[in-house]
Amino acid sequence: MLERNRKIRRFRLRHAVALALGLSLSSLVPAQNAPAYVDPQIKAALIQISAERIQSNIEKLVSFQTRATISAQDAASISGGRGIGAAREWIKSEFERYSRDCGGCLEVKTDTFMQRASERVPAPIEITNVYAALKGTNPEDAKRIVLVTGHYDSRNSDPLDETGVAPGANDDGSGTAVSLECARVLSRLRFPATIIFLTVAGEEQGLYGSKHFAEFAKSRGWEIEAVLNNDIVGGDQSPGQDPKVVRVFSERIPDGVTEAQLRMIRALGGENDSASRELARYIVQTARTYRTEVAPLLEFRRDRYLRGGDHISFNEAGFAAVRFTEFRENYNHQHQNVRTENGIEYGDLPKFVDFDYVASVARLNAATLASLAAAPAPPRNVSLRTKDLENDSTVVWEAPADGRAAGYEVLWRTTAAPDWEHAQLVGKASQATLPVSKDNVIFAVRAVGEAGHRSLPVVPAPER
Ligand SMILES: [Zn+2]
Repeated sequence: MLERNRKIRRFRLRHAVALALGLSLSSLVPAQNAPAYVDPQIKAALIQISAERIQSNIEKLVSFQTRATISAQDAASISGGRGIGAAREWIKSEFERYSRDCGGCLEVKTDTFMQRASERVPAPIEITNVYAALKGTNPEDAKRIVLVTGHYDSRNSDPLDETGVAPGANDDGSGTAVSLECARVLSRLRFPATIIFLTVAGEEQGLYGSKHFAEFAKSRGWEIEAVLNNDIVGGDQSPGQDPKVVRVFSERIPDGVTEAQLRMIRALGGENDSASRELARYIVQTARTYRTEVAPLLEFRRDRYLRGGDHISFNEAGFAAVRFTEFRENYNHQHQNVRTENGIEYGDLPKFVDFDYVASVARLNAATLASLAAAPAPPRNVSLRTKDLENDSTVVWEAPADGRAAGYEVLWRTTAAPDWEHAQLVGKASQATLPVSKDNVIFAVRAVGEAGHRSLPVVPAPER
């Protein structure tokens, strides 16, 4: 009997060692942050992003006088270089030029629809989104899409003004320039997953362009993994601006959750872990990895106070989406007729834009897009073992379908921490046991590619 007990203990010990080595070595060593991987190709691409090009693109957009969604788009205005139609054609021609330079690597497309009359649309109009897709090279990963967007329409003091000057240099010439510059630079590289560079219209009339695009993507079952919306990233050069910071807004409770999901979020303390928020944290990590000049400031709300933007259209369609906006907005320089009153200059003019700042924000966007598109897909069916009450925690997952995960990393943070505090590599395993109580921390798992690219993390659901 004694001998048998000893055998069992020995077996258990061997079993524990095997488990530890094979599956969860991590559980025996103190957690350490694994070193980030700097991809030399991505690093080199970021250097190509040019403040001068961004400046000339913003100035070109401003040269169309107005890009109001309800402004002219007939052939004569397009050839005359005035109105939203001319802006749209120019954006399209830029994407086509980048595509020629990369041997036709971009699919340049338009998404046109009729918008019915509404508060800010006096009569039905045609709205056109313009985009370029850099298709992924891996058939399985190519289904995964990461997307960057800005709105190319503009407005002045009167959202119903069809002809008056509305330069929109910052709002949102800056975001449009980010999409364009990311397309120009990243189209020289190839990624397993797909990147879409989007510019939408109709934002100022009611987010119409993004709403149409997001619903169109949803109806086609597109697997959009991340949306980066850049709106007002011009770094307006006025007192109080911080050119070292860009705000990143992310929703707390995802749109469209069911009552049952909401109950689960309440029960688990999951209200700080929407997919959009994981994306926002990923951006922070990317900024650290590539030492971008501009640092993201996490804003734990969907958008600025009582305000909105195109990322919300994507959130509403069920996609992870965040908004980038400069640290401090100058309201004299947005949604204003160009004029001087009592010595104050009003209007959204290029001279207020800090083009180096826009370039820094573009680098952060490009680094995020490239990192996600190079990474394997996130792990699937991630769950936390709950059948026994215990102080260790076991996370279980399945490999992503692309078969590109060379290993996994378990992340965790205390429940009150805003961002991940620990990352533990666990090799090519399908579970890991950590000496940390799930009562006190929030876990997530992400896939790590052969070279070291990290996927978005997935927070486990309780095991059923
Ligand atoms: Zn805007």
